[in-house]
Amino acid sequence: MPTKAFSVLGLPVHVITNYSGWLLERLQQKIGTHVVTLNAEMAMQAERNTTLAKVIQDAELVIPDGAGVVLYLRWLLLQKVQRTPGIELAEALLKELGQKGIDAKLFFYGGAPKVAAKAADFWLAQIPSLGVVETHSGYHSLEEEQQLRQTLTQLQPQVIFVGLGVPRQELWIAQNRHLCPQAIWIGVGGSFDIWSGTKSRAPAWLGNNNLEWLYRLYQEPWRWRRMLALPEFALKALIYRFYELPPLN
Ligand code: UDP
Repeated sequence: MPTKAFSVLGLPVHVITNYSGWLLERLQQKIGTHVVTLNAEMAMQAERNTTLAKVIQDAELVIPDGAGVVLYLRWLLLQKVQRTPGIELAEALLKELGQKGIDAKLFFYGGAPKVAAKAADFWLAQIPSLGVVETHSGYHSLEEEQQLRQTLTQLQPQVIFVGLGVPRQELWIAQNRHLCPQAIWIGVGGSFDIWSGTKSRAPAWLGNNNLEWLYRLYQEPWRWRRMLALPEFALKALIYRFYELPPLN
């Protein structure tokens, strides 16, 4: 499957027609993969955090998760790209595993106590053929974290969703992916909150109009400061595009 890479503020974004199909192939070929779901907020964090920028650059797959990234690709690079929210890619992957009867070991890590377990129950109720889904909450002591690493090493899950928020989850995956070198690792942000019913997602019409961020702001007003990253991204995008360029190939 061909992949095209574009540069958004010096960060890669990969464009593939079928992301979940591509990931499934990697899973079956046992090729370890880190998936980053890039949005404007993360891109702005990467401007200030060189470790995060390096992790994104090293990820095997970076998908256009946010409206800012998609509009950058459309308006500045003239690429007709569909937004692919990370939560939807994760859902597509789980559904494909179920439909194809692939008995993969899954691991959900992150969220408040019981949230990842509830998210696992939600999926197992929908797709009983999914098999084992082990879970671990995202709030714990250093000792527990050591235990978690041992569990991952023993279990060798093939798909590991990490929902610790940005940039914690990206840095955690980069530091720990060697424990399960053949796994597909995806930073899924607050997806467990949605699947467990703790929070709700924006109505589809908002998402389809690149306005999902507005709904999140309405639901979680404390995000306003973080969301200043959006206008900052737009401004930087214009400056960067016209004065620096180099698209990746
Ligand atoms: N979280 C966690 N451990 C922490 C901090 C956060 O497991 O130490 C979880 C939190 O419960 C939530 C997710 O990380 O489920 C972050 O979700 P958010 O929607 O804020 O993600 P982002 O917007 O950063 O992608």
